[in-house]
Amino acid sequence: LNFSIALAATASFTILNIKKTIRKLLYGSRFILLLLAVHFLLHLSSESIESYKVLWLYIFPPFALFLLGKSEGIIWVAIFYLLTIIITLFPALPFVSNSYSEAYKIRFLTSLAILVAISFMVEKIRQETQDTMLRYYKLRIESEERYRAAYETLKETQGQLIQSAKLASIGELASGVAHELNQPLMVIRTNADLLLRNFRENSRSRKGNNESLELIERNTGRMMKIIDHLRIFSRQSEMQKAPLNINDIIEDSSLMISEQLRIHGIALIKRLSDNLPDILGNANQLEQAILNFITNARDAIEEKQEKEGSDKDTIEIVTRPFSGDINKVEILFKDSGIGIPAENIEKIYDPFFTTKRVGMGTGLGLSISYGIIRDHGGEIDVIDTGSNGSTIRIVL
Ligand code: ADP
Repeated sequence: LNFSIALAATASFTILNIKKTIRKLLYGSRFILLLLAVHFLLHLSSESIESYKVLWLYIFPPFALFLLGKSEGIIWVAIFYLLTIIITLFPALPFVSNSYSEAYKIRFLTSLAILVAISFMVEKIRQETQDTMLRYYKLRIESEERYRAAYETLKETQGQLIQSAKLASIGELASGVAHELNQPLMVIRTNADLLLRNFRENSRSRKGNNESLELIERNTGRMMKIIDHLRIFSRQSEMQKAPLNINDIIEDSSLMISEQLRIHGIALIKRLSDNLPDILGNANQLEQAILNFITNARDAIEEKQEKEGSDKDTIEIVTRPFSGDINKVEILFKDSGIGIPAENIEKIYDPFFTTKRVGMGTGLGLSISYGIIRDHGGEIDVIDTGSNGSTIRIVL
């Protein structure tokens, strides 16, 4: 009986400790406590109890306090202790027939009293600790929720910012795109004129006509490509990433800006490696960042042209596998522009930092590009800058 009560008590002790919320089990635990109390009090009253059974008696107070909590546990412990005192001190009562020595009674009751006090204190501390932990836990959950909400808002704002910056750069690109479209239009018109005259006067060879038609076809194709691309680029980009070749993105970006550079007397040189690993990225966003590096290079060159009057201006875009890790791609933007003063290098990524004239720069380009590159797990560095121009490196 001793053993099975102990086993049941230990099992309920463990289960109740794990699943405190199951109220029904609390009734079970009261029942077990009652069994335990009756069993040992009967032992105590009917015979001269052996030491090991007394040890079991000591279990009752901490057990009751732990299972039922401080307020209910103390009532159970008080009744139990009171009954123990009565049974131990008054052997003349009915049902009580033990014969403990006076010294034993005092030792036994004192040690039980000390144990009751200790159990009470331990339970008090345990409950306080639990309350504090619960409070901290709630606070943590709350702050985590607030953090998540703030993060969502930030992401949303970032998305909007990227989109507005992109629309701004499209606005800026508009005049450039007009040039891009103008050139093939001129070719088409000249050749259409030629064909018309030829059909009227029948003055040209069949081969010449074919050449004109081919030119018209090629240039319409080019115009369609530019317009198509502009449409894709201006779309609000999804956040998804897919494997892509960075060379394609660079080709697409230059589609929209190469004519504009030519008009400014800037040669765009592309040295794109054929054996680049694909990278996981968002084409639309990467294109936005790349366009920004090219327009910054263009502006730096224009500033130099205005101040010092330079010719043979170039923007060179190099792609190659990164020497530090062949799974990465290195992209260099080298310009022959004005350069970045040493004191500005740390500041160029700051939002709203710009050295351009009012209305020319927003100061958001690099801060957004930095965000995009970092979102792709990449890095941006100014690896060289001076009076001969700057080189900006991106590793993706
Ligand atoms: P914005 O182009 O609107 O000024 P950015 O964030 O793109 O904003 O650039 C911030 C500043 O960094 C520029 O105003 C310029 O001073 C400097 N900068 C960026 N790229 C270059 C470059 N290639 N050469 C010289 N200066 C540059």
